[in-house]
Order: sequence, then C-alpha cells, then structure tokens
Amino acid sequence: MIAGAFDIGGTSIKYGVLNEQGDILFKSKTPTKAKEGGKAVVGQVIELTKSLQKDYQLDGIAISTAGQINSQEGTVIFATDSLPGYTGLNIKKEVEKVFDLPVVVDNDVNCAAIGEYWLGAAQGVDQFLCMTLGTGIGGAIVINGQVYNGEAYSAGEFGHMTLYPGGYPCLCGDEGCYEQYASSKALEQRAQHALEQSITLPELFDKARAGDKLSESIIEQWIDDVALGIKSLVHIFNPPLIVIGGGVSEQGDYLLDKLQRRVEARIMSSFQKPLTIKFAKNGNDANLQGAVRCLSLPEFCREDG
Ligand SMILES: [Zn+2]
Repeated sequence: MIAGAFDIGGTSIKYGVLNEQGDILFKSKTPTKAKEGGKAVVGQVIELTKSLQKDYQLDGIAISTAGQINSQEGTVIFATDSLPGYTGLNIKKEVEKVFDLPVVVDNDVNCAAIGEYWLGAAQGVDQFLCMTLGTGIGGAIVINGQVYNGEAYSAGEFGHMTLYPGGYPCLCGDEGCYEQYASSKALEQRAQHALEQSITLPELFDKARAGDKLSESIIEQWIDDVALGIKSLVHIFNPPLIVIGGGVSEQGDYLLDKLQRRVEARIMSSFQKPLTIKFAKNGNDANLQGAVRCLSLPEFCREDG
C-alpha cells in the first residue's frame, strides 16, 4: 500500500508519500491557506493529492489535522480560529468526492501518538499519554494500544485543565488553562516579557545553557508549570510513559532531566517507579506515519475501528 499523507496545521501543511511500513518515500510542505477558510484548506489537500498522483499510484489518503475530529465520520467537531471555517467541515466526504480512494482523518495528536507507538518513542508500550507543547497543548490517551476517543471524539484536551483559576484568558472561553502557562508559546511570551526583547526558544535555551541566570529562571518557572499539569495526569492515569512532542523536544536532556526531576518531586512516590518521560522521536513524521497506520489498521485509532 502506498498512501498520500497530510498533516494540516494552522501555519503549514506537511505532506508526503508513505508505504505500509511507514517509510517516507517523499515529503514536502506548503503554507496553509488558513485565512481563506476550511474549504480552501481541503482544496489544497485535493490539489496536492493530484500532484502526488502524477508520480505515485496512491492506494489511500491519510489525513492528520489540528482540531477535534470525529474520526469515524471524518468531520471537524471543533477547531480554533487558527483554522477559520474549519468547524463542521466533513473533510473525509469532501476528499472522497474527488478520489475513489479510502480516506481517513484524525486529530494530529492522536496521529502523533499512534506514529510514536508504531515507530517511535512509545514502541512496545501499550499504555501511555502523548502531549504536544506547541501554540497550545494537545493530548492523546493510549490504552491497550488504542487511542481513547471519549464520547464525542474529543478526549485528551490536556491543554484545558485549569492550572490557575481566574488566570489568563484562554481560546476555549475559560481562564487559567494549562496551555496558557505551559505551551511552547507561553514560554516564548514569558521570555519576551522578562527579557524585553523577542527571542526564539532555541536562543533562550542557548542562553540558559551558557549560564544566563535570567534565561534559566524563565525556563525553570515554565518547567514548574509543565510539571504541575503532568502531576494531575500522572495521578489520574498512572501511566508508565508520557511522550512529549512539539518544538521544545529538540532541547533534549537539558530540558528532560529538569522536567523529570520536577515531576518526581510533585507526584506521590507510588506513582514514580513506573513513570518515564520521553520526548517524541519522529517529530512531524509521526503524524504522517500515525495517519497512515490508521488507514491500514483503523482499530489503532478508534475503539469502533
Ligand atoms: Zn482553555
């Protein structure tokens, strides 16, 4: 089986051609026409598929996307303003209208979790949590090797746990959500505020590694908040593994060691022993790989698959 695979985000669409083993035969990306609305974004997927078909005989189309997704219908249940007009769109139906091929659509963090379970950091671990620290915080819950979807396919919104009641306003309409404090974007904003200049996260981490005390303390405070959310998740799920994805995972052991120590200090000792925190291994490739896995073996992605 050869699949066209897509990972739709608010800023770019990563896409490629993968075989059944998850090998990436071709990969590229293009800016998302988010401002033109959801239908235009699906139109991009259709056009890109046509261009892939010029070089590859595709057997299916696998789509990983931002937003809460009813993976059975292929519908966007809810997406934030980063993808306007996306909510309510039936991506699967729109794509199937054009191609006589099987199409699967699932949430990007669910796809990342399945991809990491298949070929990455969670290989051989049947119960784990996957969390992505990006513009927001996404989550996926894997139980017995399957993504747990919840009643309305929306389970795992770790980013909207309340961390500080009455805190910063959140896109969800509430205040004080975890992602307002512990996302990569939140760290960037903290750094800009404290250093009074715009700084990228790699630059911030470089400064901290070089011994800049202020940069270090900004990172430490942020890690405290990241650990606070993980503490709740660990006490609810008692997982043996948490896989963390998103841009900060490039910071490797410097960040991971601090985070692991901070989490251990906060959780009950009975929860510590089996717990490992790892960074995702395959980055965005995991989203493509996970989506393709869902295409060939839907039971990994849905309890009703
Ligand atoms: Zn929220």
